[in-house]
Amino acid sequence: MTFASLGLSESLLRGITAQNYSEPFPIQQQAIPAILAGKDIQGIAQTGSGKTASFVLPILEMFQRKSPTRNLHLKVLILVPTRELAIQIKEVIESFAIHLKNPVKTIAVFGGVPLNQQMVTLKNTEILVATPGRLLDLVSTQSINLARIETLVLDEADKMLDLGFKDEANSIFKLLPKKRQNILFSATLDTDLETIKEALLSEPVKIEI
Ligand code: AMP
Repeated sequence: MTFASLGLSESLLRGITAQNYSEPFPIQQQAIPAILAGKDIQGIAQTGSGKTASFVLPILEMFQRKSPTRNLHLKVLILVPTRELAIQIKEVIESFAIHLKNPVKTIAVFGGVPLNQQMVTLKNTEILVATPGRLLDLVSTQSINLARIETLVLDEADKMLDLGFKDEANSIFKLLPKKRQNILFSATLDTDLETIKEALLSEPVKIEI
């Protein structure tokens, strides 16, 4: 199995090679084609499984298939429980994106830094990585509009609930268009998560590593 056989573009493959990834991990073999086919995903995976690249790569690939002269607005929301994870995911995205023919702007927003500082950089952003509270702050100041999100990723969803972000997450879901792709990753699937899963996912491809 190669990354090329998963349907990724040449310029993205160059980014993957630059990261010294020689072949896809099992979670990537399963998730990448399913995400590219537009399916919802229910992934049970631990940190270390390669889950980040399993959603970052197909998301970047989807942008390679769009017109370079497309409308630049927010299309992908990656919701995460902590600022460390937000920063880390943005860095992974940028490391794979270095050679892209069709560039895409990614921003990470999270609490603990001044709101203004994050607002100025939002222009032309298509991928947003965010923690729930800060995202809602930016929505309430009308700095961010979630009405045209095409893909939602919920990473470490169990940790999001453990940290008490259930209400924030539900408020965010209500702001998204009904028709969208949903990708959920979690280390466990407990009862609380079951309800989020039922509300979010439609006929998901189930991946358990
Ligand atoms: P993650 O589970 O996403 O936190 O990834 C765990 C680690 O595995 C990170 O250091 C990744 O850079 C690395 N990694 C992910 N996919 C691959 C791959 N296909 N080949 C080599 N390393 C990988």
